[in-house]
Amino acid sequence: MEREIGELKQPHRILLGPGPSTLDYRVLRAMTTPVVGYMDLTFLHVMDETTELLRYVFKTENEKTLVLSGSGTAGMEASLMNLIQKGDRVLVGVAGYFSQRISEIVKRCGGELITVEAPWGQIIEPGEMKEALDKYEPPVVFMVHGETSTGIEQPLAEIGAMVRERGVIFGVDSVASLGGVPVETDEWNIDIIYSGSQKCLGAPPGVAPVSINERAWQKISSRAAIPSFYLDLNLIWKYWGSERVYHHTPPMSLIYGLREALRIIEEEGLEGRFKRHEINSQALLAGLGAMGFSPFAQEGYGLVTLNAIEVPEDIDEGTVRKRLLDEYNIEIVGGLGPLAGKIWRIGLMGTSSTRNNVLTILAALENILTDMDKPPAASGVSAAVEVYRKKAR
Ligand code: PLP
Repeated sequence: MEREIGELKQPHRILLGPGPSTLDYRVLRAMTTPVVGYMDLTFLHVMDETTELLRYVFKTENEKTLVLSGSGTAGMEASLMNLIQKGDRVLVGVAGYFSQRISEIVKRCGGELITVEAPWGQIIEPGEMKEALDKYEPPVVFMVHGETSTGIEQPLAEIGAMVRERGVIFGVDSVASLGGVPVETDEWNIDIIYSGSQKCLGAPPGVAPVSINERAWQKISSRAAIPSFYLDLNLIWKYWGSERVYHHTPPMSLIYGLREALRIIEEEGLEGRFKRHEINSQALLAGLGAMGFSPFAQEGYGLVTLNAIEVPEDIDEGTVRKRLLDEYNIEIVGGLGPLAGKIWRIGLMGTSSTRNNVLTILAALENILTDMDKPPAASGVSAAVEVYRKKAR
């Protein structure tokens, strides 16, 4: 049978989900630059530049700042596998899907898992972490900064200080927060931190930035080889660091894309970028509020890069999402696990966090809901425009 597989033509979606976010044309262009050998001096130079830009974004002086080949989960797995040995006690703050994933990996590493739990949509109280630190004396603690499943930004400064006081290693997931909200790696006493490329950094999916300080490195470098060859940070650093020993062939085109995305961040400046994410989230929430929707996250702790919205029972949230995609080309997502069918998750990450996108999704929602005989209480677009007008004054 004859078949024809045509040239790839993907739609230009308005990506307002939990990532990937929109790629700037500069990032797309950078990915079309030539692939060279993995020991080519020009590529080694690109690696060094990428590391330097990542130190700026992570707000760290950590020498060991590198890019793993793999998505955010590779960053998570590498951080945990390289630190945890069989029988090690690990304290994890659990209040959502991704902290559950961390817990699962701790168990797979043979670690003794201790959790401090909070209901999904709430932060983990520092006081509860303190109690657990004193009671269980774990050598390692892990927390998620931006919990994408619930739209919560977990405060970390106070917990980081408590963890450091006790000489414990502090690991943080910044997959949904880095590049969109302040992440103070050194100031918050974070010893190992990983992220993903495809969210607020505005790079293609598939690489995971990681930064490790000397306290964590001492633990990582003094242990027996881990079962994973691919995610062995000791071996990976021999390539990313000055030794330049081959470990595996890196995804150069993705690293080119990440480097350009980081250059864009540096040009915008972190403070301006955080402000942009904050204002667009405020406008979105004001618009949705006027339409009769409430945020799901605990008040004062909403993650501006991923806005979780409660969906009233009389609205079929799946139909609305499908219509947004089919009729308006807009991607948003529903809830994970226990929140399936109950919330929408609207991402405003990196290049996707724009005034235009906020007004477009509000207008689309207004039209769809009116068409479904659920007209909004008031105009979301007008309420959002009012936020922008006030900010401009
Ligand atoms: N951690 C958080 C907070 C995330 O939001 C995600 C992805 O959504 C991950 C980890 C896993 O990242 P990835 O899907 O890139 O493997």
